[in-house]
Amino acid sequence: MEISFGNKRALVTGAGKGIGRDLAKRLVECGAETYALSRTKSDLESLKKECPAIHTIQCDLANWDETDRAVKSCGDIDLLVNNAAVAELESFLDITKDCIDKHFDINVKAMIHVSQIVAKGMVARGTGGSIVNVSSQASKAALWNHTVYSVSKAAVDQLTAMMGVELGPYKIRVNAVLPTVTNTAMALVGWSDPAKADPMKARIPLRKFAEVEDVTNVILYLLSDKAAMINATCIPVDGGYLAT
Ligand code: NAP
Repeated sequence: MEISFGNKRALVTGAGKGIGRDLAKRLVECGAETYALSRTKSDLESLKKECPAIHTIQCDLANWDETDRAVKSCGDIDLLVNNAAVAELESFLDITKDCIDKHFDINVKAMIHVSQIVAKGMVARGTGGSIVNVSSQASKAALWNHTVYSVSKAAVDQLTAMMGVELGPYKIRVNAVLPTVTNTAMALVGWSDPAKADPMKARIPLRKFAEVEDVTNVILYLLSDKAAMINATCIPVDGGYLAT
């Protein structure tokens, strides 16, 4: 199945590393004029070197005004992937206000803010568009020490439903992907120790973690017209974990 995004402009948040980085490069391969937004300058510099066609934007999504300027500077976006997130693990009894603020500022508030700016442009132009929010299997599964991350991703799932319902009449489709553990820097936070990773893999019916490409393939599909009737839903990319 060939996916082509000629004449489309795409924005990926958190494109400096991991899933977002791979996705930004694949959007370029599919013909989209691609804007890669992330926080660390050196990541963006190396991405630009690897893929000169990419437009890079340095921005800390925790800063509301900086985000406003950065997203508006991209122009008219047709395809948006809200991928940036933080994941810090704490036991429920040790949760701090800082941890809650950080997760909700980036994983939820910035997602609403960026989407609002992009969707207002889509509505004004009447051209429609597609938005994919990157959630997690942790939005639906209670994983040890994941409370704050998990709750922030549960908010992403409901935000996706709300956006899909309210933006659908403007021909804007909004969906979420819920990956299982995916081999990126973020996964090292919770799953680098085989004593934790092996029992988790044993609970996944396909008996393995996801590769970055497993997730970006699904995001590209959801962004494309091949998914023209899919809206306001959450798609697990979890090897069957959530069915167990
Ligand atoms: P990653 O390797 O840690 O990459 C996350 C990217 O987001 C980084 O480039 C990071 O930039 C950026 N980012 C974080 N906070 C930001 C901020 N305030 N402003 C701008 N950029 C910011 O993570 P990943 O594994 O690719 O995860 C991507 C998405 O998949 C996330 O939504 C995550 O929750 C989800 N997910 C991941 C897994 C997994 O196991 N990897 C599983 C399920 C869901 P800096 O490094 O410069 O901060």
